[in-house]
Amino acid sequence: MAFPSVSLGPPIAKRLSRLEVQIEANRCLNCYDAPCIRACPTSIDVPRFIGRIATGDLLGSAQTIMDANPVGASCARVCPTDQLCEGACVYKADENPIRIGDLQRYATDWAIQTGTTLFAAGPPTGKRVAVVGGGPAGLAAARDLARMGHAVTIFERDPEAGGLDTYGIVPFRLPAEIALWEAEQVRALGVEIRTGVTVGETISADSVLAEYDAVVIAVGMGNVPRLGIEGEDAVGVWDALDFIRIAKMGGDVGRLGEHVAIIGGGNTAIDAATCSRRLGVPSVTMYYRRGAERMTAYGFEIEFAQVEGVEFRTYVLPKRIVVENGRVAGLELISTDPAGSARPLPGTERIVPADTVIAAIGQTRHTSLLDAFGVVHDVNGIAIVDDGMRTNLPNVYAAGDCMFKPGGIDAMVVEAAQRGKVAAQSVDTFLRAEVR
Ligand SMILES: Cc1cc2nc3c(=O)[nH]c(=O)nc-3n(C[C@H](O)[C@H](O)[C@H](O)COP(=O)(O)OP(=O)(O)OC[C@H]3O[C@@H](n4cnc5c(N)ncnc54)[C@H](O)[C@@H]3O)c2cc1C
Ligand code: SF4
Repeated sequence: MAFPSVSLGPPIAKRLSRLEVQIEANRCLNCYDAPCIRACPTSIDVPRFIGRIATGDLLGSAQTIMDANPVGASCARVCPTDQLCEGACVYKADENPIRIGDLQRYATDWAIQTGTTLFAAGPPTGKRVAVVGGGPAGLAAARDLARMGHAVTIFERDPEAGGLDTYGIVPFRLPAEIALWEAEQVRALGVEIRTGVTVGETISADSVLAEYDAVVIAVGMGNVPRLGIEGEDAVGVWDALDFIRIAKMGGDVGRLGEHVAIIGGGNTAIDAATCSRRLGVPSVTMYYRRGAERMTAYGFEIEFAQVEGVEFRTYVLPKRIVVENGRVAGLELISTDPAGSARPLPGTERIVPADTVIAAIGQTRHTSLLDAFGVVHDVNGIAIVDDGMRTNLPNVYAAGDCMFKPGGIDAMVVEAAQRGKVAAQSVDTFLRAEVR
């Protein structure tokens, strides 16, 4: 595998021992109309996969998980389970829900370690589908389409598939190998994964439309937008996604110095902060423009960052990056309205120490690619789809982060996978109707 495996310290999640697995698995009450199934966006049959672990059928357990969720090994590590399956567990009332994520990890780890291929492709339909983007949404769509018998090609810009699971989420929460194994499961069904191909640059949207019977766009989001303040082109200013990606791949992020300032309050900001700590930076501070209760990072992530020694400062905006000899030499902040409007309060400016500034203030959109396909999007570049993930074009579908709207479905791996599955189902319906 042409991918360096970098751990950046011990993993966050403790692996269950065999005894713990048996105890946890045997606690499951196999509830009627199980709330955990309803709480999982991919509707994994949780009692069934847990029951199979309890009886020692790890193949059956892994198949149950991965059948419902093509990226179920990644989800076992990154799902905010307290808000999803474990949050719905009947034992939650006693503050002691079944450790569904950890059990899911146990079963999928077994499949990874034994090199088991879990599924086979369906009988060929003669139809060809292009999937643009090989992240969780694209892999989920491709996997299901291949099982339905369609010939699928994934076009992926990066050298490896997996999207943010491979390159974006810190390795001590999600090692790249897990996402790469999921991509291999998809490849094993005969899906062609053409990496290093950027649709819209390497090949045109028109040629994809001309060559394939249907297209699923699953390109996620883009880079972090610019901060728009003086000094941001200095050495030592980072886009959080570039920073995490280089660190995860074992690359050189250069001199970070004594003080790293992170701008933002979401999961990306947390990942950049904890990553900086694990790279040995003594002082890492997250600066957020509103109150802690408005931060979009998961609660468990914030707790983890605190344990890792990350400091938090709220109600502040960056006003200017202080630059000396072309390098970051400090950060000028301004306080914001304590009522939460994020309005800066003149006269509250001060300079805090910073040798590195990492911006994590959201992600841009792939608007020009949607335009190239002729897909209608909103003013922010978010693809507009119906419940079946169909765009304004009958043969073009969109899934994952590229169609999630702020305030709607949360951008998370399990939700991206579910939209990929829905898109696959709709494409299949469309293609089979065409055959008749
Ligand atoms: C730092 C960070 C931490 C996160 N932590 C969590 C977490 O703990 N739990 C959780 O559930 N979610 C987390 N998320 C969110 C989660 O990673 C995303 O919601 C999920 O990856 C979206 O999947 P996707 O397939 O839509 O997009 P992506 O994962 O972004 O995949 C899109 C793929 O499309 C490719 N692509 C883009 N443009 C083109 C093109 N023109 N041609 C070909 N290929 C292209 C990209 O290279 C990429 O591989 C995190 C995100 C970030 C950034
Ligand atoms: S995929 Fe996520 S939400 Fe669904 S059962 Fe697994 S850990 Fe829970």
